[in-house]
Amino acid sequence: MSADHVRTDSASLQMYGTDGSKRGRPADVVVLPDGSDQVAGVVRLCAQHRIPLVPRGAGTGYTGGAVPVNGGVVLSLERMNRILEIDEDNLVAIVEPNVITGDLQAAVERIGLFYPPDPASLKQSAIGGNVAECAGGPRAFKYGTTKQYVLGLEAVLPTGEIVETGGKVVKNVVGYDLTHVLVGSEGTLAIITKIVLRLVPKPPVQSTLRATFRTVSEAANAVTGIIRERVVPAAIELIDRDSLDAVARHLGVRSLAPDGTGALLLLEVDGLAEAVREEADRVERACRRAGATEVLRARDESEREELWRMRRELSPSLKTITPIKFNHDVVVPKGRIPQLFELVDHIKADYRLRIPCFGHAGDGNIHVNIMVDDVEEEIRRAHEAERVLFEGVVALEGSISGEHGIGFAKSTFLTIELSADEIALMKRVKQAFDPQGILNPGKIFPQ
Ligand SMILES: Cc1cc2nc3c(=O)[nH]c(=O)nc-3n(C[C@H](O)[C@H](O)[C@H](O)COP(=O)(O)OP(=O)(O)OC[C@H]3O[C@@H](n4cnc5c(N)ncnc54)[C@H](O)[C@@H]3O)c2cc1C
Repeated sequence: MSADHVRTDSASLQMYGTDGSKRGRPADVVVLPDGSDQVAGVVRLCAQHRIPLVPRGAGTGYTGGAVPVNGGVVLSLERMNRILEIDEDNLVAIVEPNVITGDLQAAVERIGLFYPPDPASLKQSAIGGNVAECAGGPRAFKYGTTKQYVLGLEAVLPTGEIVETGGKVVKNVVGYDLTHVLVGSEGTLAIITKIVLRLVPKPPVQSTLRATFRTVSEAANAVTGIIRERVVPAAIELIDRDSLDAVARHLGVRSLAPDGTGALLLLEVDGLAEAVREEADRVERACRRAGATEVLRARDESEREELWRMRRELSPSLKTITPIKFNHDVVVPKGRIPQLFELVDHIKADYRLRIPCFGHAGDGNIHVNIMVDDVEEEIRRAHEAERVLFEGVVALEGSISGEHGIGFAKSTFLTIELSADEIALMKRVKQAFDPQGILNPGKIFPQ
């Protein structure tokens, strides 16, 4: 490794010290290895001197996972960004960790294959970061999240050994499933340096629909109705009134839905043309039965793109409400979505907060965005509201995070969901991988 692999200037230390959560602490030094052997070399040096080491993908995480909260070395994998192989016969891709998710999707789609996991950050986030967070997205309801696509890994342990887990085969039950111990481990157990991914054939046709409803309950009933019609859409995105208003403001249009709309569903079915037509009819029927005030179908690719643009602009548009967003990705069993929205309504009133919500209704994963101005008292109310939200979600048999992980932003809430025994077992797993506790300290578990 040369000086070119190291950054110590203050702009870099700041930049690599934060992520999508906008929280941060400057790194002490940033290292940019070119390959697994260099990663292992850096790890051995850190292990020898007990220096904290924080793996970093594209830095889009929402929970501060890549932030060096205890200082030390930030190990950016950005130079390890090659697609190594696309094996069409075995439906497998092998990639280095910092291939950008959207770039892999484009590369496989050019040859009629499909990598379904689609976090909204797919144009920036890296596959390694997706694996470390087990990222999901709108297509998770039909296709599953990142974990369903990881067949094998190469990883550098915090003690410096390079291990390989799994491989190109879909079936493999030999010993513990170490691959899936590492998926979702948020950079706390090992540094992922190579990923073997499962691909599927690209669905040839999509049909995208937009249905508007007077209330969130009606929209949620439509989701149940669609499932009763035995249709599994590729996406069912639910958007509430406050979010619709924010995105309309952001796009500079008066409104994106008829007056009186309380919730909107953005739906997509995909597959072979004939099946797609039939499924789209069934989806429309279920929406109308649940009280839809309007159901539109995209007539061509540009109308489809326009509908998805609205969805993609949701997150950035929230900045038109307030400068600070505490973005939560709670999950409830989908039948309990109306209760989740009731809980959020109570929180809005009790804590005097603006909380636009949208998300993946098919799997009950709703983004609850607590919006605040940079005012101490308002931020304090938001933090109190977060606890009430998480306790309420767990009481609804849900989970405090479906996509973004815990990082350090949510570590103080871990005990709301996990028992002392579960946390103790997880800490023993951490100890087995990382006996010195050098890899990404201060994450997941409360310090
Ligand atoms: C606009 C926006 C939209 C988003 N939408 C979604 C969404 O729809 N769904 C979703 O799931 N997430 C979403 N996210 C969150 C984020 O994009 C994901 O968590 C993503 O998987 C992070 O990838 P990254 O490469 O940026 O990882 P980073 O932020 O760099 O790191 C995330 C975590 O992974 C660890 N890590 C990274 N690379 C490695 C590696 N090679 N080995 C070991 N550990 C590693 C880091 O230590 C850290 O703990 C969104 C974020 C933004 C900003």
